[in-house]
Amino acid sequence: MATLLQHQDLETRSAKNYVTEVFELVKKRNPNESEFHQAVKEVFDSLIPVLAANPNYMKHGILERMVEPERVISFQVPWIDDHGKVQVNRGFRVQFNSAIGPYKGGLRFHPSVNASIIKFLGFEQIFKNSLTGQPIGGGKGGSDFDPKGKSDTEIMRFTQSFMSELSKYIGPDIDVPAGDIGVGAREIGYMFGQYKKIRGAYEAGVLTGKGLSYGGSLGRKEATGYGTVYFVEEMLQDVGLGFKGSTVVVSGSGNVSIYAIEKAEQLGAKVVACSDSSGYIYDKQGINLDTVKRLKEVEGKRISEYVIQHPHAQYYPDCSGIWSIPCDIALPCATQNEIDDAAAKLLVSNGVIAIGEGANMPSTLEAVNVFHENKVLFGPAKAVNAGGVAVSALEMAQNSMRLSWTLEEVDLKLQEIMKDIYTNSIQAAQDYNAPGNLVVGANIAGFKKVADTMISQGVI
Ligand code: NAP
Repeated sequence: MATLLQHQDLETRSAKNYVTEVFELVKKRNPNESEFHQAVKEVFDSLIPVLAANPNYMKHGILERMVEPERVISFQVPWIDDHGKVQVNRGFRVQFNSAIGPYKGGLRFHPSVNASIIKFLGFEQIFKNSLTGQPIGGGKGGSDFDPKGKSDTEIMRFTQSFMSELSKYIGPDIDVPAGDIGVGAREIGYMFGQYKKIRGAYEAGVLTGKGLSYGGSLGRKEATGYGTVYFVEEMLQDVGLGFKGSTVVVSGSGNVSIYAIEKAEQLGAKVVACSDSSGYIYDKQGINLDTVKRLKEVEGKRISEYVIQHPHAQYYPDCSGIWSIPCDIALPCATQNEIDDAAAKLLVSNGVIAIGEGANMPSTLEAVNVFHENKVLFGPAKAVNAGGVAVSALEMAQNSMRLSWTLEEVDLKLQEIMKDIYTNSIQAAQDYNAPGNLVVGANIAGFKKVADTMISQGVI
């Protein structure tokens, strides 16, 4: 018995050393990429027990290979604005890991985009895509282009120039981009048109999030937000709770937020606050989603205008203040690192029961520790928001078969997928001695399939 324990100790120590060594290498090779380091650290910390139990992963250099993207493409995107001035942005596509399928992941257009952000998102995507149970690898891309304040023709010229270069590296069996922050149906439409023109072929499966008239899937627009709520409902039901009768705060007012609000309300919750990058609104009677949809989806206005229609509500010009509102469930659905240590403590002191990360990495590592220490139910992004990419994979399947499923069919599949992700993550956490820790569970469940596949395919 003593020898067995000593042996396990040794394995754990060598797994810890291995993780430390590879993480140091990541920092050295990728200096000044703090978001990428953060994402790698979160995954690595979870993997120690799985590496200790399966030293084969160390022998095959799996971590070293996983943290190095298979390909990083960085390119110039020149375009002409409405005043005839030449503008130049930077485009990226990181093709991270193709062990289990073609690269898959969104495109983000936001001024904050840089190599670190695209790499953290691409790295996360490997495990998220694996968790969905679909045959898709991990990738991500985007540009530091700021769509805010641009005319429709400027958006078109920019996206066409972006696709002129990107088209060389993607294809239905190679790499299939989708939307993310700043990239919705309009941008996907322009990019698809340009891709079709360049290739001279109608390859519907090259992009997902397309319009319904040219190969889009019913339910894709709603998938990430609905999936977020389905996952959190699973988490709550496991302890005898649910959205019904709860008070919810959702940050952001974009694609993920709007459909998270919609599903939470359908399940009987009252959503009292949402935000944009300028500020947040608090409507204690419950947010009127029709107003938010009109302002954001149709008119492209700021969330501050909500209070013009609903004068009993309040607007506060600081988006981070949203976490001071007391709630049972918080769904951060805007952007990375929007909940820090202080915001997490505030949520806890106001009695929050559950957090579901609709956005990618919205909580800092310190904030996640605060939630765990205080026994708050915590659903990590790569599990919670995987519904979007899962339905993107369903869109690819429909494109391959040249048919369309009904909204009910897609929604049912989404519900099953989110339930499976929850079950597999909670089971993996249990198996590796971290009961209830969904960060550990999701990382391990996502990792094992990719790692085992990499071993079967050899060092390539
Ligand atoms: P979106 O439609 O562009 O909406 C983003 C929302 O977040 C907007 O309300 C935006 O406000 C707000 N926001 C952006 N940057 C912010 C900042 N620095 N501080 C505060 N608020 C900020 O994007 P989305 O598709 O909903 O994506 C939101 C998050 O979900 C991202 O983390 C994305 O990676 C993740 N995600 C999306 C999908 C998907 O299917 N779309 C799937 C998985 C994960 P403004 O309008 O003022 O910029």
